[in-house]
Amino acid sequence: MSATAPITQDVHTIPRKLPEGPINLVGLTRDAMREVLIAHGTPEKQAKMRVGQIWQWIYQWGKRDFAEMTNLAKAYRADLAEKFVIEVPEVVTRQVSEDGTRKYLVRIAGGHEVEIVYIPEEGRGTLCVSSQVGCTLTCSFCHTGTQKLVRNLTAAEIIGQVMVVRDDLDEWPEIGAPKDETRLLSNIVLMGMGEPLYNFENVRDAMKIAMDAEGIQLSRRRITLSTSGVVPEIARTAQEIGCQLAVSFHATTDEVRDRLVPINKRWNIETLLAALREYPKVSNSERITFEYVMLDGVNDSDEDARRLIKLIEGIPAKINLIPFNEWPGAPYKRSSNNRIRRFADIIYKAGYASPIRTPRGEDIMAACGQLKSATERARKSRRQIEAEAGLGG
Ligand code: SAH
Ligand code: SF4
Repeated sequence: MSATAPITQDVHTIPRKLPEGPINLVGLTRDAMREVLIAHGTPEKQAKMRVGQIWQWIYQWGKRDFAEMTNLAKAYRADLAEKFVIEVPEVVTRQVSEDGTRKYLVRIAGGHEVEIVYIPEEGRGTLCVSSQVGCTLTCSFCHTGTQKLVRNLTAAEIIGQVMVVRDDLDEWPEIGAPKDETRLLSNIVLMGMGEPLYNFENVRDAMKIAMDAEGIQLSRRRITLSTSGVVPEIARTAQEIGCQLAVSFHATTDEVRDRLVPINKRWNIETLLAALREYPKVSNSERITFEYVMLDGVNDSDEDARRLIKLIEGIPAKINLIPFNEWPGAPYKRSSNNRIRRFADIIYKAGYASPIRTPRGEDIMAACGQLKSATERARKSRRQIEAEAGLGG
């Protein structure tokens, strides 16, 4: 869709769900589920056991209908069905790229839309999950950052993304079947729309569900949260989630980073690096991924590469170079392949892994930084974007 395409859908025409409807059990922590069951008549003594049973039906076997929960009494199942729902986002469209990447547009309460991307790889597969509708931050190279409408996703809407893709991949195990070790959906990256650390509690609760041993059972080592650098929440991520951390670094001087990742004006490179140094110790994770988008003539010089090495000295790190993915109206160009290779080489010779991220699903606008819901595309003009990037005039 071009930058000037008309907006074809008005988000307010879709009726909002009434708040007094049945309660969704998806996204609740075990404790919260216990509380709502008790509040709706489950005897306190039984509640913990019931949570365990319902939890397994929902997250281990992928069931959405209380009637199928055969280890619960029939009357209790009927009672649950009256008071609760098991609700996940509704898939509106699914596009499949030439390279097998799948992009889903899902609808959530309020008529909002979010995108999810599934990237199949050899012997594994990564799901790129969104944490917000849009993003309040305005990184000048990011398409999502041009979207004005923003709201935090609930924990249900976050874990629900994993559930609907497992549905689509037909990957819920058969009851009693031997455990399947190779998974189509084996990894989660919180690299879709939104800044996950501006929605900390919901992201945490959803990831706890993804890691729960009686459910989806993904190891914390297979979950990577990417942040633009919300420093105060980094320590909390280590303590309360313990997943892998990626950071959108993208520049080696505050002057350039201020322009690319404006949150740098609040927490600059030095402050960010101090928080990152602590992360592996507290979370017991191996290394931090530094994401670095390659922008022609902006942050891609040999000098940048050398400065980067100096800055991250002492931090166990991997540097993921992301060739810039263009979008309509974007004020930057992708660095040349030679430039990217040369940059990668300097970093590699300093002893760091420096993989170049192959863009996936470009033909369906599923690549990094290209996500943006259709309802909100094209609301900012090119001039606005350039002005915010400090390139206007
Ligand atoms: N908000 C979080 C996570 C989502 S973005 C964050 O910023 O870290 C996932 C990654 O894609 C980030 O590193 C982001 O900087 C990068 N990205 C954004 N727009 C891009 C683009 N147009 N081309 C390449 N990478 C982009
Ligand atoms: Fe938001 Fe991340 Fe895009 Fe920046 S790069 S605008 S933090 S989604």
